[in-house]
Amino acid sequence: MGDILVITEHLKGEFQDITFEMLGKAKDLAGESGRQCVAITFGSMNGKSDELGVADSVISVGGSDDYNPESYAAAVQSVVSAKSPSLVLVGSTSMGMDIANSVATALDMPTVSYCVDVSAGSSGFSCTSSMYGGKMNVVTNVDGSALVMVLAGAFNADEGKSAESPAVEDFVAESGAGKIRFKQLIEPEAADVDITQSDILVAVGRGIGSKDDIKLAEELADILVADLACSRPLVDAGWMSKEHQVGKSGMKVKPKVYIALGISGAPEHIEGMKSSSTIIAINSDKNAPIFDVAHYGMAEDLFDVVEELVEELE
Ligand SMILES: Cc1cc2nc3c(=O)[nH]c(=O)nc-3n(C[C@H](O)[C@H](O)[C@H](O)COP(=O)(O)OP(=O)(O)OC[C@H]3O[C@@H](n4cnc5c(N)ncnc54)[C@H](O)[C@@H]3O)c2cc1C
Repeated sequence: MGDILVITEHLKGEFQDITFEMLGKAKDLAGESGRQCVAITFGSMNGKSDELGVADSVISVGGSDDYNPESYAAAVQSVVSAKSPSLVLVGSTSMGMDIANSVATALDMPTVSYCVDVSAGSSGFSCTSSMYGGKMNVVTNVDGSALVMVLAGAFNADEGKSAESPAVEDFVAESGAGKIRFKQLIEPEAADVDITQSDILVAVGRGIGSKDDIKLAEELADILVADLACSRPLVDAGWMSKEHQVGKSGMKVKPKVYIALGISGAPEHIEGMKSSSTIIAINSDKNAPIFDVAHYGMAEDLFDVVEELVEELE
């Protein structure tokens, strides 16, 4: 019975959260199905394998720390060919898309995309994919070896962290040297806020009506010691900057409290905030889809509610 492989991701010497999300899930699946959970590391990241203690073991393929789609995919391909895993968990990320598609094509393996859940069955695995921006869930049953691309935010990263030290196997992988060369890491300009780390978010939607009225939401955010977030139309209109945008083409956030003001709850927005612990929605339309995911809701004019709230809290 093949193992469950997790393709780790790193940037600037740190494992990325998606690694721990996948590890936690892989460990559960391995436990349920009597398999081993094995992580693959690249470059010098084997030196940090004690951060991957949830894995039963680590395979280090070495190579460069700088991501290269050709060489990383070739290394994964070598490991998958040699170890015949049951399941390979890959992030549904820029790096994961490169690797999964390349390995799947080379080894003629099926790929399950946009996966938000996986469970072990009697003869294989059942994978749930969130399709069409969250409008539809599709279940795929996998009973042979497959690559499963996991959406960021699908699993709890804390479940993939432990203080154990897994055994590390050095694996001599194919170099995969081809036409692509790493030249430079170009980082985005530093944002004044990182909403993915906020405990409380006050999120503003098109219902706010005008750029000037955003200051009301700002007042509420100040009192609650919260950060300000928004839906995409506000960024498109130039009312707020991109680092505040939540959703499919923005940030995936998981605050303790998410207050949605005048946000309708389009699937592309929900995708980015549905994992928040408590969602409070204020929308004048009682049929707005945001109420389907909200824990608390008020079908009221946001200005009436927020003005009163600010007054009370002050
Ligand atoms: C490929 C793609 C990617 C996308 N990515 C994202 C993304 O990352 N993030 C994102 O947010 N969207 C994204 N979108 C856009 C998305 O489809 C929606 O258009 C958008 O989320 C709607 O934003 P909204 O809820 O603020 O506006 P609207 O849908 O216009 O909703 C405004 C809401 O405000 C309510 N309202 C109006 N006045 C008041 C008032 N006075 N008091 C209370 N409520 C009031 C209305 O009832 C309405 O429900 C994407 C779309 C596509 C196609």
